[in-house]
Amino acid sequence: MRYISTRGTAPALSFEQAMLTGLARDGGLYLPDTIPHLAASDIAAMAGKSYEEIAFRVMRPFIGDTFDDAQFKQLIAQAYQGFDHAARAPLVQLAPNHFLAELFHGPTLAFKDFAMQLIGQMFQAALARSGDRVTIVGATSGDTGSAAIEAFRGLSNVDVFILYPHGRVSEVQRRQMTTPQESNVHAIAVDGDFDDCQAAVKDMFNDFEFREAVSLAGVNSINWGRVLAQVVYYFTSAVALGAPHRQVSFTVPTGNFGDIFAGYIAKQMGLPIKDLVVATNQNDILHRTLDTGAYVKEGVVPSISPSMDIQVSSNFERALYYAYGGDTSAVAADMQALSSGGFTISQGAYEALKTTYLSGRASEADTRSQIKASLAESGELLCPHSAVGVHVAQTFQGDTPMITLATAHPAKFPDAVKDASGITADLPDRMADIYEKPERVTRVANDLNALQTFIKERIAQ
Ligand SMILES: *Cc1c(COP(=O)(O)O)cnc(C)c1O
Repeated sequence: MRYISTRGTAPALSFEQAMLTGLARDGGLYLPDTIPHLAASDIAAMAGKSYEEIAFRVMRPFIGDTFDDAQFKQLIAQAYQGFDHAARAPLVQLAPNHFLAELFHGPTLAFKDFAMQLIGQMFQAALARSGDRVTIVGATSGDTGSAAIEAFRGLSNVDVFILYPHGRVSEVQRRQMTTPQESNVHAIAVDGDFDDCQAAVKDMFNDFEFREAVSLAGVNSINWGRVLAQVVYYFTSAVALGAPHRQVSFTVPTGNFGDIFAGYIAKQMGLPIKDLVVATNQNDILHRTLDTGAYVKEGVVPSISPSMDIQVSSNFERALYYAYGGDTSAVAADMQALSSGGFTISQGAYEALKTTYLSGRASEADTRSQIKASLAESGELLCPHSAVGVHVAQTFQGDTPMITLATAHPAKFPDAVKDASGITADLPDRMADIYEKPERVTRVANDLNALQTFIKERIAQ
């Protein structure tokens, strides 16, 4: 299987190359040239199997000869052994026909661990084989950074630099990034918002001299390896509720569109998903786009669900690629227009998106009252992102079982959760000392040159 760029002019790569690279050289994102299909009997045979076994069956067709079966199984086992729930992604029931997939039992308490722990293992195995060394630079609205640092800390062939918006992540998120003491970990507080951080990382990838000089690698949600790892829990959840014999729907708290896009891949692989619902907070650019066909950037307004405070939703480009039927020049033209403010999706592609994705938004007040209501109705204490999902999911509830993805643990956002519910969400014991540990972070201006200089200096040490 080869991986091709959404913008059509970068060379096709193997799985290993696409994973180690992240962003394509033409600015596009990598996608498999075909999406493998699993027969209903293959899906039926997943019933009762472990998360790790299902992960192997779902991802195996995508990785080519990057790893042999025995090694791939071993990497999967290592990736998920640090999760503190045997099911890895357990389902709990919220209401008749409404289920929550708890994706927050990994080391940093957010769903990002599912992908990051696995690509940490895959990077390490691939780099050990080649002897190469890479510099990972990532932007985060909070959870990607902590998950990446947790996955890559202490690895010998990797330096990891994480850019986060200064003052705009929760204290737990920040401390997860600043308290690891390994010398290959570098947390950078940028004077800007998440979109600024993400733009700086993209600019570094487009600066080929810098890219080569530091062997730049990307682990943001644009990395195909991450999307692939996230396809798995759509399968485990759906199979637990009776797929392939019964359809299910999913609602996904969405920011960068990586998680919901993984659901689209699962559906294309043959998983009987009825609706895929995009849930946004007050930063509702995706909901507005699906509502109107016009993608128009506005300012980011900080919310109590900060991991979704975004205006440039990178993986939406992958959805556009399929909506345009693989017309890479149409995608490239829209992305060009986006850099000067926005674009309008052409009629046919817009129709295609509307049949693929439903959407809704939750205001700050909706989010708070949902945290309170879910606690009263089911005993489940939701994080604000998951509450956005549950709120939106309810408006699409029908005869098909609805699964809302719970993307983070409430203890990651204790202030907002306490404010809404009156309850203090406790961190798991293994993290209880996070408030006492010393922090290590460098504050850097929102300036490409300053950031690149800092990175070069650090890796030279
Ligand atoms: C990253 C994140 C999201 C958004 O996921 P995308 O894949 O970027 O759409 C939602 N909730 C939480 C808690 C997150 O960390």
